[in-house]
Amino acid sequence: MLTSIKDKISAQNRISDQDFLRLEAEADLFELGTLASSIRKKKHPDSVVTYVVDRNINYTDICVSACKFCAFFKAPEDGSGYLLEKEELRQKIVETQELGGTQILLQGGLHPDLSLDYYQDMLRFMKETGIHIHGFSPPEIQHFARLSELSVKEVLERLIASGLDSIPGGGAEILSDRVRQAAAPRKCNSDEWLEVMEVAHGLNLRTTATMMFGHIETVEERLEHLRRLRELQDKTHGFTAFIPWPFQPDNTALAESTAIEKATGFEYLRMLALSRIYLDNFDNLQASWVTQGPKIAQLSLFFGANDFGSTMIEENVVAAAGVRFRLSEKEICRLVSDAGFTPRKRLMDYSLV
Ligand code: SF4
Repeated sequence: MLTSIKDKISAQNRISDQDFLRLEAEADLFELGTLASSIRKKKHPDSVVTYVVDRNINYTDICVSACKFCAFFKAPEDGSGYLLEKEELRQKIVETQELGGTQILLQGGLHPDLSLDYYQDMLRFMKETGIHIHGFSPPEIQHFARLSELSVKEVLERLIASGLDSIPGGGAEILSDRVRQAAAPRKCNSDEWLEVMEVAHGLNLRTTATMMFGHIETVEERLEHLRRLRELQDKTHGFTAFIPWPFQPDNTALAESTAIEKATGFEYLRMLALSRIYLDNFDNLQASWVTQGPKIAQLSLFFGANDFGSTMIEENVVAAAGVRFRLSEKEICRLVSDAGFTPRKRLMDYSLV
């Protein structure tokens, strides 16, 4: 029944939305894995699995957005939130560099009071260390634009001039406004998320794209998310990688109000493989060991992933939802080698170190 879709994939042709829905409904896990793996092998015939050594720095947890799936933020009126001082930022960067780290993933809550000058000063200060700054996801950029009454382009130009090197694809969750309205009504909408990425790509800034699935979205809304990313990538070719992971429900308002169960490894691998098959214009797909643990992460290399993500010397957001997997660079290399691949350290743009 699925032969025509499989033929299309073997001939390296793009699958349609209908094909995606049929695969999602009818293909079993092994069929999806075989198809995703065949695409991965064509794109990366050398069996290399990359990873990056970096650290997450969440400069503040104070946030006005109060997304229902977030266990990390503190409301401004709560009074218990933090804002990192420059010296703390410097120490974290120096520690990262001493461990061979090459980049900082810099993200924070949507703070109500900080000016764009504050962020520019923070970037300039951090950049003195020479580290690559992969920072500020689209909801933060839109927030800065709103507060400073500047356009997204002007905000990005100022941040780039102050040292911003690339943008992480956080805050995408599901790029469908029904879902966003229900789960994070104060956050930027799908068009605004995509606008930041399109403008960033136009300014030669590379970015990643993410998807957080397994909460209140339908299969059609997952498809809408992938379709919008594929369309933008056709236009700009600015995304370096796609990173899907399942919603982590513990300690979140969403899980309290709707009896959502955590997605299983089976569901994760299916979605990863479907993403690899549908997103034919994305070269790199990351395994999410942070949410799935090392064993499913190894398996993900047979379901379309060609990258093990980052060592995440520090991670706070998923940890706030009760998930605390930790892996050193040595362990990542062992997991990748044991799965039959060659581990190679990379930079944000996927060039090898
Ligand atoms: S996900 Fe981000 S924007 Fe939403 S509440 Fe958490 S910190 Fe704020």
